[in-house]
Amino acid sequence: MIDLQDSPAPELPAAEAPPDPRGDDEARKSAKIMLVNREELGIEMLKAFLEQVGYRNLVSTCDPGEALDLLLDERPDVLLVDLALPEVSGLEILARMQGDRRLRSIPVIMLTEAGDAAAKLEALERGATDFLAKPVDSGELAARLRNALVFKACQDRLAYSDALTGLPNRERFLERLDWTLRFSRRYGTLGAVLHIGLDRFKQVNEALGPGGGDRLLWAVSQRLRESLRETDALACAPEEGQPPMLSRMGGDEFTVLLSVLDDSADAVRVAQRILAVFEAPFEVGGHELFVTCCIGIALFPADGTARDAVLKAAWLAMQQAKREGRDSYRFFSKDLGARSHQRLSLETELRKAVERQELEVFYQPKVDLAASRLVGAEALVRWRHSQRGMVSPADFIPLAEETGLIVPLGHWVLASACRQMAAWLAAGRRVPRISVNVSSQQFRQRGFPDHVRAALSGARLAPPYLCLEITESAIMENAQAFIETLDELKAGGVALSIDDFGTGYSSLSYLKRFPIDELKIDRSFINGVEHDNDNAAIVTAIIAMAHSLGLQVVAEGVENPQELGFLRDLGCEVCQGFLYSRPLPAANFGELLIPGGLPVMNPAPGATA
Ligand code: C2E
Ligand code: MG
Ligand code: MG
Repeated sequence: MIDLQDSPAPELPAAEAPPDPRGDDEARKSAKIMLVNREELGIEMLKAFLEQVGYRNLVSTCDPGEALDLLLDERPDVLLVDLALPEVSGLEILARMQGDRRLRSIPVIMLTEAGDAAAKLEALERGATDFLAKPVDSGELAARLRNALVFKACQDRLAYSDALTGLPNRERFLERLDWTLRFSRRYGTLGAVLHIGLDRFKQVNEALGPGGGDRLLWAVSQRLRESLRETDALACAPEEGQPPMLSRMGGDEFTVLLSVLDDSADAVRVAQRILAVFEAPFEVGGHELFVTCCIGIALFPADGTARDAVLKAAWLAMQQAKREGRDSYRFFSKDLGARSHQRLSLETELRKAVERQELEVFYQPKVDLAASRLVGAEALVRWRHSQRGMVSPADFIPLAEETGLIVPLGHWVLASACRQMAAWLAAGRRVPRISVNVSSQQFRQRGFPDHVRAALSGARLAPPYLCLEITESAIMENAQAFIETLDELKAGGVALSIDDFGTGYSSLSYLKRFPIDELKIDRSFINGVEHDNDNAAIVTAIIAMAHSLGLQVVAEGVENPQELGFLRDLGCEVCQGFLYSRPLPAANFGELLIPGGLPVMNPAPGATA
C-alpha cells in the first residue's frame, strides 16, 4: 500500500485514507515493488536500478511458480514481471491475478522483447498496465514505475476512502482489522474496536434533508478525527506507533480501531473522549444541533479473535448502549451475545404471533376521580406465548420497534380495540372512549390517518370513541413534521393524548400548537408522589400547565389511596392504575361495565391538604 505522507510499518496497510496521489516523490519511494524474472542476474540489475533512484522496499523471486503466493503474502504496490518466463508464463500470472479479487488491482509492468507486438497485445487484454522493453533503460524504468504508482494511489484513494468524510472506508478498516488481529494472535497483544452510532440520526436526516444530514456527518467526522489525534499518545503503545484508526462504516456509523492497548481502561478513556466530542452543538445550515452517540466496545482477544466476531461484538454492545439510553458506551459481554440469540428467536416467533393468534388485547380502566366513574379504557397488548407464558410488552414492544414489526402489530391492536369497543357499545355497555397506543413508526407512515379511518369504519365505530396515545419522546422526535398528521387526525374527530409525559423534552411552544386533548403523567412521577418532594413538584407543575392549556390530565400508575388523595387535591381529573384495576382480558373488563362493577375508592387525605 502506498502512503505518501507518513510511512507506517512497511507490511501494515496505512491507517489514514490513501493520501493524495500527487504527493511527493520521496514518500512514494516507500512503495513495495515486486520483481519476477527468470534470472537472478536480471533481478539484481533491476534492483540496482531501483535502489539507485531511491526505492527501498523491494521483494523478488526467480521462481514463477512461487510468484502468486508471494503476491498474496506481500501485496506489492506494483509488479514487474518478465513476459517470457519458463513453466508459468507472465501471461498466466496475469490471468490468475485477474481471477483473484485481492490481486486484481495491483498494476503490472511487463518486461518484453522489443517488437513482440502480438504478445504485448495479449498482455494488454489480460490486464497489464504498461510495458518495458528489454534491455531496460533506467530512466524509462523510473518514469513508468512512477506512473504506475500514481495510478495505484489514485485507485486506492477511490477504493479505500469514504467520499463524504475523507476517512478510511469500511474496506480499509476491515483490511487493517485483519492485519491487527493476526498481529494480536501472534504476539498476544490486547486491542479494541469501538463502534460508534449517532443517536436519532434518522430523524435529524429527515428534518434537515439529506444535504443537511451529510453536512452533519462531515462535521462529526472532523471532530472525531481531532479528538482521536489528541488520543494518540493514550491509545497506542509507543513502540507500535499505530495511532487509532477512525473509519466510516457507512450511514451514521463510525469505528475506531485501537491496535495495541495496555488494558481495557484505555478503551474507556477513548470512549469518554468521543462522547465529550458531542457536548457542544453542531452548526448545520444555520441550526444548532445537539447530537449524541452510543459506543459499543469489543476487546480482542477476549471477545473474539476473528474479524466478524469482533465486529459483531462491538455492534451488539452499541445496540445495547442505545437500548439503555443515549449518550453512553457499553462493553460487550458474553451475556449480551446469548441475549442477542434469544432476541433473534423471539423476533422469529413474534413474526408468527399474530398468525398463531397468540396476541391478545387487555383493557385497563381510566377513572374519573371526582365521580369514581369509568371514562375510558386503555388497550394494552399481551403475548400469550405457548412456551414462555405471558411475555410482557416491556420485553417485546422494544423488539417490535427495532425490527419494524411494530407497524403491523400496532395496526392489529388498533383494529382489535375498535372492534371490541363497537361490540361493547352494541351490547349496551357504555365505555366512553377507548385509548390505543401508537408507535412513532406507525405515526410516521404515510397514510396513517387513512389507516385509522379504515380501522374505525371497519368496526363501524364513530371517531370520537377513539383516543390515540403517542409518547412524548416519540412526538418530540419530529415535532414539526408530526403536527400535520396530528391536525389531520384531530380533524377526523379522533382524540389525542400525550403518553408518558414528563420523560421527554417538550417545549411549551409545541405543546400549545399540538391539537391534543389529554396529557398522561408518566407513572414514574406518580410513584410515592405524596412524600417524594421532587415528584410532587413535577406533578404539580404538569397539572397546572396542562390546565392552563385547557388539557385534561390523566395520572397513570396510581397504586394506593395516598397517591390518589394527593392527585385529587391538585385537581387531576382522571386516574389509571392498579388501585382500580390491572389491565384485564376483554371478557373480564366487560364485568366492570355493569353497574357497581367498578370499585369505589376513598382517597386518603392528600399531602397538600
Ligand atoms: P403505557 O402506554 O404507558 O401503558 C401503561 C403501562 O403501565 C401498562 O404497562 C400498564 O399495565 C402499566 N400500569 C398501569 N397501572 C399501573 C400501576 O398502578 N402500577 C404499575 N407499576 N404499572 C401500571 P404494560 O401493559 O406493560 O405496557 C407497557 C408499555 O408498552 C405501554 O406503556 C406502552 O408504551 C407499550 N404498549 C403496550 N401495548 C401497546 C400497543 O398496543 N402498541 C404500542 N405501540 N405500545 C404498546
Ligand atoms: Mg399508553
Ligand atoms: Mg404511559
